[in-house]
Amino acid sequence: MSSKRLIIAVDGPAGAGKSTIAKRVAQILNIEYIDTGAMYRALTLKVIRSNIGIDNIEEIIKLMESTTIEFINNHIYLDGKNVDKEIRENIISKNVSYIAKIKEVRLMMIKLQRQIAESTNLIMDGRDIGTIVLPHANYKFFVTASVEERARRRYIELTEEGKENITYEQVLEEIKIRDKIDSTREIAPLKKSPDAYVIDTTNKTIEESVNEIIAIIERG
Ligand code: C5P
Repeated sequence: MSSKRLIIAVDGPAGAGKSTIAKRVAQILNIEYIDTGAMYRALTLKVIRSNIGIDNIEEIIKLMESTTIEFINNHIYLDGKNVDKEIRENIISKNVSYIAKIKEVRLMMIKLQRQIAESTNLIMDGRDIGTIVLPHANYKFFVTASVEERARRRYIELTEEGKENITYEQVLEEIKIRDKIDSTREIAPLKKSPDAYVIDTTNKTIEESVNEIIAIIERG
């Protein structure tokens, strides 16, 4: 690759709008978008399907060693099968943070994520991208919103077309639990990198947040 690489790191809590915003920025800049949350979700799906207890770390690590997770044309594949839809189910959201705090799991994911970033210009979103995975990213953003607003968005997403039978209060509680596990875990906790720009999406449209990011990048 030439020296003119463009690497953008986006972190933030669940439901802040990271993925939607990062996807849009990727389109505008014509670069790749990598959703690292999808990778942790895919492994969680496999653990749940395998009936391994979510606290059985030893078995989870063994299972992981025989698992392939890859992106093909922006779709996530688990052992060669597209799992875009399955990984968005609420049972995955409820369990993923328990899998994501396992040290060996994180080490494998970080390795994979760095490999992906080696060969292409991209925007990668997650929880530890600016801090751990790509500390030398050209631009770092921390995308956040109030917990109530994040729960409201998740609730709408989950209940549209009657997909899941869940109340707003349950979603709010689940997001608070996930925030707590993600930001207090020992390895690579969710936190803002000191050199990241904060984008608070609480009272903004997607387009406004995207424009804010593009303006910062264009400013150089
Ligand atoms: O981004 P998303 O909400 O889909 O991420 C799902 C979960 O995956 C997070 O709550 C977190 O536990 C885990 N995750 C992580 N590190 C990342 C991306 C996601 O620990 N870089």
